[in-house]
Amino acid sequence: MAVSLTDPAEAYAAVVARIARAAQAAGRAPGDVTLVAVSKTQPWEAVAPVLAAGQTVFGENRVQEAQERWAAYRDHDHDYDRVTLHLIGPLQTNKAADAVAFFDVIETLDREKLARVLADEMQKQGRRPRLYVQVNTGEEPQKAGVIPADADAFIAACRAAYGLEPEGLMCIPPADEPAGPHFALLAKIAARNGLAKLSMGMSGDFETAIAFGATGVRVGSAVFGART
Ligand SMILES: *Cc1c(COP(=O)(O)O)cnc(C)c1O
Repeated sequence: MAVSLTDPAEAYAAVVARIARAAQAAGRAPGDVTLVAVSKTQPWEAVAPVLAAGQTVFGENRVQEAQERWAAYRDHDHDYDRVTLHLIGPLQTNKAADAVAFFDVIETLDREKLARVLADEMQKQGRRPRLYVQVNTGEEPQKAGVIPADADAFIAACRAAYGLEPEGLMCIPPADEPAGPHFALLAKIAARNGLAKLSMGMSGDFETAIAFGATGVRVGSAVFGART
């Protein structure tokens, strides 16, 4: 087994403690904030100790990688069907059927074509993964997500045209800007659309996100170590 500088179980415990402190500092209960442990591209030796330490919610950014890694843990005869999986990467419509079948939460609903295909698949499969609308708060061309000006209309279309009921919003702020204003913007869009959940905050800024109302933080490298 490879020698790693940080022990993932220790790093995990430290992140859990930081989340609890940040929640408390914001006058919120630690249980208000879900840690989504982002295991994408991490070696299993880094993931296993975190699973063994009791983490149950994991985030992956690719459908196929998630299926390969987690299929055995989705077996309902198995102890591990307690694992909850979030898709946090962009979703192509040709992978939507697999995503509906496999994930508990899809955080990256960001266009009408995808809304239509997800709605059809959910109908067909009789499964309803929870949904988040991804908002491109920084309006970065290389990033997925609806732009803020289109968010209200998109959320309304999800509800009225496709019968989808997103539970919240997700964003990834620009890497080179303070994250706070982006988190505040996401919270504002959620509030005016009656959405209770906010997936925001990563390794570098999850405490800030909690201060701005995050209900879910997606933390990878601070838990598992740097991705190679
Ligand atoms: C990779 C990724 C994360 C985790 O990033 P870290 O900086 O390693 O915590 C969170 N959210 C999304 C959408 C990601 O792709």
